[in-house]
Amino acid sequence: MKKKWIIYLLLIVALTIISILIIFIVLKNNRDNNVNLDDTYMLDKKEDTSSEDVSKISESPKYIDNVIIVNKSYPLPRDFVPDNLVSINERVQVTSETYEAFELLQSDAIALGLNIYASSGYRSYDIQNDIYNNYVNLDGQEIADTYSARAGYSEHQTGLAIDLNTIDMSFDGTDESEFVKNNCYKYGFVIRYPKAKEDITGYMYEPWHIRYVGNVLAEKLYNNGDWITFEEYFNIDSKYE
Ligand SMILES: [Zn+2]
Repeated sequence: MKKKWIIYLLLIVALTIISILIIFIVLKNNRDNNVNLDDTYMLDKKEDTSSEDVSKISESPKYIDNVIIVNKSYPLPRDFVPDNLVSINERVQVTSETYEAFELLQSDAIALGLNIYASSGYRSYDIQNDIYNNYVNLDGQEIADTYSARAGYSEHQTGLAIDLNTIDMSFDGTDESEFVKNNCYKYGFVIRYPKAKEDITGYMYEPWHIRYVGNVLAEKLYNNGDWITFEEYFNIDSKYE
């Protein structure tokens, strides 16, 4: 008789523990679900606000003959991120084809005693937004627009553009700059913003900014040293609306 009571007692204790556990798990699940709902809500809200801020941001990238086009007339979607980014160094990432071409250019330059290095490559929409806004605060929007792209309008977001060495006009006229200007097309790069084409590209001359396009197009745009711009070649504008 005593043994029976002990078994009943143990059963009651076990059932109580199981009940408490079930209540605990149900409560925890509810709390997690609430957190997820809040997160989703925040994301939706963020997307709504951003589309108000930058109403002209496109929904898909512009391609002509399989070449991705980014200039003042053709922005990228905010969430555009190239899917094959690799690191050139600790700070610079580019697409894998850009990386391979750059490695060749760099090693040939080293063989000639030149020091060419990547200072900037892929930049996300948000990073470009910070950079551009800093320049606007510094120089005002009109001047900033001549040398810095608005978020979504930067070729750096494609992962196909590299800024070399010192990113200012002190790079111009150096042996490195001359080598790049005269040889980058052999590796599939173009000088994207050539001298005296400011009105066409919408940007001042940038001897440090190269863009990977592949060897065939690069040689055409090189044009025996008289660079043709994307805008001329593809017959497109580069103007903010
Ligand atoms: Zn650049």
